[in-house]
Amino acid sequence: MEEYEVVVIGAGPGGYAAAIRAADLGKKVAIIERREIGGTCLNRGCIPTKALLRSAEIYEMVKKGTQFGIVNENLSYDLESIHKRKKEVVERLRTGIEFLLKKRGVAIKKGSGKLADRGSVEIDTKTGKETIRGENLIIATGSEPAQLFKPDGKNVLTSDHALELKAIPKSLVIVGAGAIGIEFATYFSSFGAKVIVVERLEEVLPSLCSKNSKVAVMFRRSLKRRGIEIKTGVRIENIEIKGEGRVASKLSNGEVLESKKVLVSVGRRLNLTGLGLEEIGVRMKGGGIWVDKKLRTNVPNIYAIGDVIGGSLLAHKAEKEGEVAAEVIAGRNSKMDYRVMPCVVFSHPEFASVGLSENQAKARGMEIAVGEFLFAGNGKALCLGETEGLARVVVDTKTKEIAGAQIFGSDASVMISEVAVAMENGIKVGDVGKVVHVHPTLSEVLMEACKDAVGEGIHK
Ligand code: FAD
Repeated sequence: MEEYEVVVIGAGPGGYAAAIRAADLGKKVAIIERREIGGTCLNRGCIPTKALLRSAEIYEMVKKGTQFGIVNENLSYDLESIHKRKKEVVERLRTGIEFLLKKRGVAIKKGSGKLADRGSVEIDTKTGKETIRGENLIIATGSEPAQLFKPDGKNVLTSDHALELKAIPKSLVIVGAGAIGIEFATYFSSFGAKVIVVERLEEVLPSLCSKNSKVAVMFRRSLKRRGIEIKTGVRIENIEIKGEGRVASKLSNGEVLESKKVLVSVGRRLNLTGLGLEEIGVRMKGGGIWVDKKLRTNVPNIYAIGDVIGGSLLAHKAEKEGEVAAEVIAGRNSKMDYRVMPCVVFSHPEFASVGLSENQAKARGMEIAVGEFLFAGNGKALCLGETEGLARVVVDTKTKEIAGAQIFGSDASVMISEVAVAMENGIKVGDVGKVVHVHPTLSEVLMEACKDAVGEGIHK
């Protein structure tokens, strides 16, 4: 029987990061994957969506071209080429990750892994069963689309199906206004689909925005301007396929929405079944695997990382957890700290958030100051024609440190990392504002918001 110091089940961003880091720290590692290396993120999540959204963004930019003196009278798009490019991006990255694993001597095992006992994994491969021993086991099996309404893949879709749609539906109802729902709404509406998003909670992006907060209102208006209709505080009770390309969605307020297709994006189901967790006595909590800050389960030498432990289902969270688990196994004193976990919605423009919102900080009884700045007041935003949006920083007035930030606007995904660096390192908001930021750049929006928080802004 083959023996390893670390065996990882699942090769998504959590699993491959753990395998690479463990190998770099001198461990003999095997990784087991039943589908493609790269997991959900690379094959059915972060990357293919962003490749599609980039095509949508370029299409929209060219459509707006006359504003910039660019004339394009015969603008059209070719979905086949868009999907071809998406596939190439995914394949290139997948090859890259396989290379990184192989370069370090990580054994890649193709098949479905199951804990055989507390120190070995049984792999169900195409050619039969194989059991390998692992001194330490890391469970990184991720998640799949939750199936609230049974998808048929043609009329009622999950995100997996939506990524492969080779025609833009004339009309689309999206169930769920979370990040995934909003990104697909952006993509399909860019190419002309009439999109209605239905959300049972009271606000769009409900895990990121409190109801009617300044940024949420601005974000909702922006979606509306794009032609995306949003219905919040209402549930879809029933979905009926009335024929090919005819779906009726019955809402809790009695309304019935007819559309060509329905995309159900109401969260994710964690991949926990068939892993032998119960038999081994791995403890669960809140629907996921319980772990401590060092990603250790209750069973010695068994770790769990990524989506399977719940919390924010984000690739960078999974990756960080993978690194931490590997370091803990290698004897380092690493641990997770979830205070600074940025999150981005890749709408047009983007929405990014880290730490506490104004309302969350107030609910904790914190004394806060808020600094803000509009993209409309930024020179580069005007040059780009990207004047929509706002940056807000929430500051703990006792420590003068940033407690959180929300940025809605172009390149928010890049700017939020600057806030994360400041938060992680306890840099005071005034000190971020004092740093010279290049002019003209969108990053000046964040600098101005930080200055505003300490009453030192000069452009407002
Ligand atoms: P996964 O990526 O799900 O990988 C788990 C792997 O384990 C899979 O490859 C699976 O096949 C394998 N596996 C499962 N069971 C077994 C078994 N028994 N044996 C062997 N292998 C097994 N996150 C972001 O941060 N940014 C984004 O922009 C973003 N966009 C997204 C867009 C969409 C449409 C979706 C669906 C998700 C998106 N996410 C995004 C979320 C992100 O993809 C996940 O949080 C991330 O992939 C989780 O990583 P993971 O390693 O925990 O699991």
